[in-house]
Amino acid sequence: MPEGFDDILLIGTVFVVVTLAAFWLAMVIWAYRDMRSRSRDPLAQLLVAIIVSLLNVPGLFIYILLRPRATLSETYERSLEEEALLQEIEERPTCPGCGQRVQHDWQACPNCHHRLKKACVNCDYLLELTWNICPHCTTSQVNYTSDGTIATSSRHVKPSEPAPIDAKWVASQQVERH
Ligand SMILES: [Zn+2]
Ligand SMILES: [Zn+2]
Repeated sequence: MPEGFDDILLIGTVFVVVTLAAFWLAMVIWAYRDMRSRSRDPLAQLLVAIIVSLLNVPGLFIYILLRPRATLSETYERSLEEEALLQEIEERPTCPGCGQRVQHDWQACPNCHHRLKKACVNCDYLLELTWNICPHCTTSQVNYTSDGTIATSSRHVKPSEPAPIDAKWVASQQVERH
């Protein structure tokens, strides 16, 4: 047997051992990181790392079969989506008269004719019935009461004009003075 063969065998063995060790380490680190993205429990993370480091490739397969299905970020995204959906349902307005769903930009309920909103007298921005001023253009408003009648504000009531003076009466007064 040539002397150089032992050296090659040794180098080959070392190479294989180092590669396997690196692979084993990578597997353990991957499993630990993967578990960390799926569970906040540090004990579970450590347990996964230990199982994979002891059982090697079969341990990794067992972990992949048994790991939590969703990552934490996926769970978080899903909860956000559910919350948004729930909020949309809650925020959709209903008619105070008949309880039917109405749209934000409706001025009256098409079902029971209940007045829902009023348009600004100046800019047509839709206002709540109780608002006296337009938040959009700051014009003060005519108030609609809940039964639809108009409670006037001073802006829209003309001051009563003074009674016209009878010209003949004025003339007669002037005649009497003379
Ligand atoms: Zn209605
Ligand atoms: Zn306005």
